[in-house]
Amino acid sequence: MSEKFRCILVTKGDAGPTAALSEFSEADLMEGDVTVAVSHSTLNYKDGLAITGAAPVVRKFPLIAGIDFAGKVVSSGDARFKPGDGVVCNGWGMGETHHGGYATRARVKGEWLVPLPSAFVAADAMAIGTAGYTSMLSVMALEDAGLTPAKGPVLVTGAAGGVGSVAIALLSKLGYRVIAATGRVSEEAYLKALGASEIIDRAELNTDVRPLAKERWAGAVDSVGSKTLANVLSATQYGGVVAACGLAQGMDLPSSVAPFILRGVTLAGVESVHCPRPRRLKAWERLAKDLDLTKLRATVTKAKLADVLTLAPQILKGQVRGRVVVDVQA
Ligand code: NDP
Repeated sequence: MSEKFRCILVTKGDAGPTAALSEFSEADLMEGDVTVAVSHSTLNYKDGLAITGAAPVVRKFPLIAGIDFAGKVVSSGDARFKPGDGVVCNGWGMGETHHGGYATRARVKGEWLVPLPSAFVAADAMAIGTAGYTSMLSVMALEDAGLTPAKGPVLVTGAAGGVGSVAIALLSKLGYRVIAATGRVSEEAYLKALGASEIIDRAELNTDVRPLAKERWAGAVDSVGSKTLANVLSATQYGGVVAACGLAQGMDLPSSVAPFILRGVTLAGVESVHCPRPRRLKAWERLAKDLDLTKLRATVTKAKLADVLTLAPQILKGQVRGRVVVDVQA
């Protein structure tokens, strides 16, 4: 008989999708050439949407939730991985159309896996998780567009959230002067410890949008979208670049072409789920080199598998600070 393991399963009933702690049989996992003993997962904004059903993230039922995991290979038909290897997996439809990381077992394509960088233990990889890896992709997008610390300060919106916290730590280590925009000004000490030089109230970026405003930053990492992103663009200095990766405020973008055609501003889109493997490997290499582990660990709240069910609505309300590491065995 196939072994059963613990997981958070999303099922669809008459009242819509529901997530609950459950058991699943290893024989029922989807196709893949690598089976992994998962030790840790995390909580990203998208997991919050999936668990609460606030957006149709889960598109196959029943499905194990969780868009990422870290663990050790149990068996592998992929020559790149052997039993015992530490691995990380983000995106690729996990927790959306493929069974995800809120489980003690996962089976995925070897192509989706990244070797766990030697700088990290599995819990660190999930302290980074999809949010932190997206912060790295955002910083790489700024660099690709020519941003350097000498060009001026960089704004990080959604600063006390997951993407924001890791972006601040990365940018400050790379020598940038970081301005953090937050609705939680009470978190000033936390944000400054991560490396922010200046804190602004996010309300400043939620005003009516003017096509151009006073130039305030050379670059930005925005995980908020909507009016905030529009105001960020209007205040980006000549030749600057903004990496857009999120929609915590909304999916709309009530902007104009003025920042692009009058200031040569670049708006760089960041997508983590289907990011090609070479760039993904590069991002994890860069995280191992450019992320201060002490700062990363300071962002972490530890959770058990069942805690995900109560934390999910909280992340959607912007009430989770930094990163959550889920010990799936607990
Ligand atoms: P978090 O909830 O941890 O962080 C989001 C932060 O945004 C909050 O902590 C809060 O920061 C701020 N915020 C929330 N609501 C509002 C609002 N109404 N107006 C302004 N600011 C707000 O989420 P994550 O960091 O995990 O993800 C952030 C975003 O990035 C999400 O939209 C997520 O879907 C997206 N994302 C996209 C990826 C991609 O591939 N493009 C990958 C990963 C994430 P504060 O309290 O400091 O103001």
